[in-house]
Formats: sequence, structure tokens, C-alpha cells
Amino acid sequence: MRATVADDLLGHYRTTARRLPWRAPPGAPRQDPYKVWLSEVMLQQTTVATVTPRFERFVERWPTVEALAAAPDEDILQEWAGLGYYARARNLIACARAVAARGGFPRTEAELRALPGLGLYTAAAIAAIAFGERAVVVDTNVARVVARLFALPGPAEGIREKAAAITPDAERAGDFAQAMMDLGATICRPRAPRCGECPVSAHCVAFALGTPEEFPARKAKAARPHRHGIAWWSERDGALWLVRRPPTGLLGGMAALPTGEWTDAVPDEARRAIAVVRHGFTHFSLDLHLVEADAPVGDGWWQPLERIDEAGLPTLFAACVAAVRSAGGLLRAA
Ligand code: SF4
Repeated sequence: MRATVADDLLGHYRTTARRLPWRAPPGAPRQDPYKVWLSEVMLQQTTVATVTPRFERFVERWPTVEALAAAPDEDILQEWAGLGYYARARNLIACARAVAARGGFPRTEAELRALPGLGLYTAAAIAAIAFGERAVVVDTNVARVVARLFALPGPAEGIREKAAAITPDAERAGDFAQAMMDLGATICRPRAPRCGECPVSAHCVAFALGTPEEFPARKAKAARPHRHGIAWWSERDGALWLVRRPPTGLLGGMAALPTGEWTDAVPDEARRAIAVVRHGFTHFSLDLHLVEADAPVGDGWWQPLERIDEAGLPTLFAACVAAVRSAGGLLRAA
């Protein structure tokens, strides 16, 4: 009988699986759902290299979902600082508490979907990897591999059906999901796929056509709007005035410099800027103009600059501190 995609892929995975701190070796008993969930949330739009040390710190500090659920929001947000996309951190907290309240993770994709912040992909990944359900796990990498295997034109057209068709029995579904992720990340890359090393090239229509990079067809990217904002820099006796952002909205609940609105036009105060930090959010890019304030703005606290790393500033505001440091002058030694 002819080998299936799963047979060939899993044969390759047994010897080449990436070693990752949240992952059990191929064929091992089921994995800890807490680790699978935590890693998948962290990996959404953040690279494996960035996530790996952060994941290890997280599980060392909070080894179980119950421990995480019991932690204060501020500690978790501080530990999350720098990973970006803070809505994920807030969903993480809500989900940990929901799981702890019900006495552990549910075991099926359908029940997992009902948890806060768990989309189709994450729920399927946990169901397959931690609980051995024959769930169909499709992220961007897997979608690309499937589009090429079947020469499907677009990301929306038939990917899930085809992915379901090649997903093996429940026993192998978890390893298969991880093997597909590895294939997409290391061999079937967006540009210059390494088809010569691919364990499933014999099944691949795009490879047979000789045009793997044409699948899936690229969508024209909508232009991202560009915004401007002011951040107030207030420094006294070697300490910087910080505030906590409102719990909802962009960078919600995070330590920050006081800011005004983000606007399309450059605000008047920007003329007094001592530094400008450019930052890309998912839906817009921002120039944040740092302006010295005579007095502290808003409710906040004085954070000693020599202990600024302990404030848990997200990347945007950490970059502001670095920008003022490199601009020289203002940042006085404590
Ligand atoms: Fe991707 Fe090439 Fe393998 Fe096809 S043969 S799945 S295009 S790496």
C-alpha cells in the first residue's frame, strides 16, 4: 500500500523533531496541556527563539495553571513584558482562571473553544497534542504546506478540508500536528522551500508543477495607517514618572510613560520632542514623540531609573527609555 503523507512525515519527524521545552519527544505519552496551551499562546506572532527562554521562566515561576491563575495580574503582565500583543496576556490570565475554576483543562476541541481567548487553532492544537484527539490543526505554516501539497490557490480555499483529509488517526494526530508545524517552519518555508529535503515531496502537487512558491497566492496587503502620539518624560532625582495604562485597550494594564491620544496629524507638542520612537502595531504604525514634562502627568509612581528593568515596560516604552538614553543629556545618573 502506498505510504500516506502522514506515514512519510512522521517517519521523518521521529528523527528530526525540534527539541522545544514544551514538547515531548515523538511517540511519547501525552503532553502537559498547561505547557501546550502556554507555548501556543506565546507563539502567536512571536518567534520560537524569543519564546523559548520566556516560556522557561514562566513555568519555573508558575509550574501549573492553578499557580498562574492565583498570581496577581501585575506580576503576570510584568513577566509578559516584551512579548507584545498584550491582549494575549489578558486572555491568558482570564483563561488560566477559567481553567482553574473548572478543575483543569477540558479534553475536547469543542470544550476548549469555549475558554477565553482560545481560537480554532489553539483549541485544536491542545486537543491533538495533549489529549490525543483527531483534531485538525491549521496555523499559517500548516496552511502553506497544505496549499502546496494540493496546489490550492488561496489561503481560504479548501485548506481545512484537505488538512482534515491527511490528518491521521487520533493516536498520531498530536505528533502529526507538530510535524506539520516543523515542516512549515524549517523546510516548507514561505520563500525558497527546501523541497530537496522534504519528506513529503512525493505527494506534493506544487513541487511536481515546479512552482511551490506560487502557493498559496499572496494577498495584496492593505496599507497600515500611521499615527502620532506624545509620551511625557518626567524625571526627578534619578527616577522616572510611570503610570499604569487602563486595563482594556492597547497595552492594557501595562506600566508605561503617560501618553496622549494617537492621532493622524503630528501634535503641536511634538516640536519639543527630545526623541522619537517608531513602533509597529498590528493595525497601525506609530511615531511616539517624547516630550519633557515639567510635572508628573496622571496617577503613577516614581520608578528609579537604575531599576527601570523591574517596571515591566512593554517594548514600546522600553524603546523610549533607550531612545532618551542614546539621545544623551536628559537621562541623569541616579
Ligand atoms: Fe513544501 Fe516543497 Fe515539501 Fe511541497 S515538496 S511540501 S513545496 S517543501
